[in-house]
Amino acid sequence: MIKLFILLIGATKQLGTALYNVYLSDKITNVRGAGMKYVAGNRQLACPCCGHDDFDKDYRQLNSRGATFLGLDWANKNATILICNNCTNISWFMEEPEELD
Ligand SMILES: [Zn+2]
Repeated sequence: MIKLFILLIGATKQLGTALYNVYLSDKITNVRGAGMKYVAGNRQLACPCCGHDDFDKDYRQLNSRGATFLGLDWANKNATILICNNCTNISWFMEEPEELD
C-alpha cells in the first residue's frame, strides 16, 4: 500500500514536470526565431565556438538530478540558455542576459 502511494506521488510529480515543460516549450515557441543579440556582464555575447552573435533564447529547469547533486534545487530555479543561430552551441546563464536593442 505504501509502495503504491509512493509510486502515485512519483507519477504526479512527473506529470507536473511534464506539464511545466510543455508550458515552457510554449513560451520557447514564441521566442524562437527571434534571433537576438544579448549582453551579459556588460559585454555583448558572442558564441564561444564560432563567434556568431545572434542567439535564440530558451529556458531550462535546474532541479534535475544533476542540479540536486550540485545543491541547486532549493530554489526550483530556471536557467536561461542561448542557442547560437549559426552552430547551435548552447550557453547557460543563471541570470537572464539583456537583449541588445
Ligand atoms: Zn556558434
